[in-house]
Amino acid sequence: MKIGLEVHTALPTHSKLFCACSTEAAEPNTAICPVCMGFPGSKPVLNRNALEISLRVSAALHCSIIKNSYFIRKVYFYPDLPKSYQITQLEGSVGHGGYVDIGSKKIRIRRVQLEEDPARIIRSEDYSLLDFNRSGVPLNEIVTEPDIASEEELRSFVSELRSILYYVGIDIDKEVKIDLNISLGEERVEVKNVTGIKNLIDAARFEKKRQSDLLQSGKPIVKETRSYSAESLSTVSSREKESDEEYGFIFDPDLSFYPTSGIALGKPVIASEIASSYGKYSGTVKELIMLDRDSLRLLEYGSKNSDIKNVINAIELLKRHRGTSMPNEGFGEMLKYMDSGLLPNEDAISALMQGKPVDLAADVIDAKDIDDEINRLISERPQLVSEYKANKKAFNFIVGMILKKHRVDPKYVSERLSAIIGQA
Ligand SMILES: [Zn+2]
Repeated sequence: MKIGLEVHTALPTHSKLFCACSTEAAEPNTAICPVCMGFPGSKPVLNRNALEISLRVSAALHCSIIKNSYFIRKVYFYPDLPKSYQITQLEGSVGHGGYVDIGSKKIRIRRVQLEEDPARIIRSEDYSLLDFNRSGVPLNEIVTEPDIASEEELRSFVSELRSILYYVGIDIDKEVKIDLNISLGEERVEVKNVTGIKNLIDAARFEKKRQSDLLQSGKPIVKETRSYSAESLSTVSSREKESDEEYGFIFDPDLSFYPTSGIALGKPVIASEIASSYGKYSGTVKELIMLDRDSLRLLEYGSKNSDIKNVINAIELLKRHRGTSMPNEGFGEMLKYMDSGLLPNEDAISALMQGKPVDLAADVIDAKDIDDEINRLISERPQLVSEYKANKKAFNFIVGMILKKHRVDPKYVSERLSAIIGQA
């Protein structure tokens, strides 16, 4: 099986790609101007911020960066495109020839390009409406080579890409449209406009089954465009695919060449590459930081001075309770306690969160005290040790007894209890 994707995401810019209209208007046709309505004589001006974001995406996907980026017109007629062409990039794209490392292999990236979104068509039974608020909204399109060979690789790729884009400021869960190119035989089938990750996986699974059934029964697979329905979990033939030759592509003379040098990028953040430097903890670290900027910040701050195991425990503790927005100073303090075998309770964590002093006598407990107490409670209930796997009630009773006395992390207490019973 060969899968290639075209992933379209909206960029987190406040204004459109070629005009100053807002990308955030709610009422239809309120954020519009002659440029994004395609009036004759109107002149597009490139949104610098969009170019910078595209550059960041390209760098994070290990692409070669073009020296001078430029735009082309993709000419076709459709009601959502009043000027009869969409401004896009192809060869003028910012990034070319990159990859995403999914562990088992590298999925090659063909290019990363900017393009404008057309208007939104709202269809009714006997009429259609157009909302031009969306016309000209910047899209980032990532085109992969057909390197994805299984559902597992598809999942890994999407999960990596989601994290990479998260650190560039693009939320793939908020809005994403994916064209899925999938072939089991000779002919390529394109499933257009799949929205969301779950639908992408379901659409790929359906197509794989459909195409392999056709092959097994000796029927041909037709090269075509299909669309995915989330209701029926299936794809249906939509229209014959236009090949690229059927579009007219011309250089856009209204726009210029845009040098990419001199734009400060900073080092791209690739969570799985950062995680891999943590040796045997890389899997756990990856889970923590894939989609959490604060966890990454705390990890990098904490691991300078503290034992990585404690740093991981502390971040997990925060994730379970108040979230990872704790300032570095508070986190450093928390690690100091944990490094010396002390356990901050809920009150201590909330004090550290707000930069307030911790009541050492009341809110920080010696982890040894909890162990001692667990030992005392189980010595009173020796039957618990022999049958603790079946005796969930007694197990939870002991956790409850400890929690009544100390407002500490329940998961920590359960773990200690399991460990102590396991040794007994
Ligand atoms: Zn506009």
